[in-house]
Amino acid sequence: MAQATPALEIRNLHKRYGELEVLKGISLTAKDGDVISILGSSGSGKSTFLRCINLLENPHEGQILVAGEELKLKKSRNGELVAADNRQINRMRSEIGFVFQNFNLWPHMSVLDNIIEAPRRVLGQSKAEATEIAEALLAKVGIADKRHVYPTQLSGGQQQRAAIARTLAMQPKVILFDEPTSALDPEMVQEVLNVIRALAEEGRTMLLVTHEMNFARNVSSEVVFLHQGLVEEQGPPAQVFDNPQSARCKQFMSSNR
Ligand code: ADP
Ligand code: MG
Repeated sequence: MAQATPALEIRNLHKRYGELEVLKGISLTAKDGDVISILGSSGSGKSTFLRCINLLENPHEGQILVAGEELKLKKSRNGELVAADNRQINRMRSEIGFVFQNFNLWPHMSVLDNIIEAPRRVLGQSKAEATEIAEALLAKVGIADKRHVYPTQLSGGQQQRAAIARTLAMQPKVILFDEPTSALDPEMVQEVLNVIRALAEEGRTMLLVTHEMNFARNVSSEVVFLHQGLVEEQGPPAQVFDNPQSARCKQFMSSNR
């Protein structure tokens, strides 16, 4: 039987900063509905990997496919791969949602305006339509009553939930989370994890960089352990967490319990 087209496919991604080779050929395939947790010690290249997927950073080598469509890349003079087609990258960026560690909400806009800005500008939604969708999303993440306040008036957990609502408003095919709870006070971590868990349960395709090991174990369909710019180990959570094969992964698991 023919394989379904993966929601996201990364082939042989390389990235360096000067002499420092951060990604040395990473490949990863996410099927529809997969939740892939990416683990690894600090500096192992997790953020760089996520950021290369939507060209927040420019890789030096590799291919990126979203729902089977390959992102067109060209070599720039400094050796990095850059978007070869601006319209395509703009569209594909809206298909690849990104949730940052530090929320990245626009401080001068209300929560509602943060959410409706891109759907209006990029998806061409009317204000009424975008607002209706935004209000439903705010209710979904549990902050419907905060739509008219500014980000600084929200707790960190509320800001991150607003940021997730903003990402969802673009109807992404894949969502990338880069340590979405690591800037939060401990009492706010759970409320954000609950939102991410609900997204997993509704079948969203997600890549998740996190240090929340229990959460990763419970919510993931697959776990990828990065070490020194390579996939050191990968597999179902029960296998990678309970029975890691490589020495590095064993050590990481035992020091992060
Ligand atoms: P992780 O997210 O796993 O902690 P990063 O992807 O942030 O790791 O970083 C991987 C390596 O790349 C680190 O050694 C880091 O110092 C380096 N690095 C990351 N971003 C840059 C940059 N913009 N310029 C130079 N070096 C960078
Ligand atoms: Mg990081």
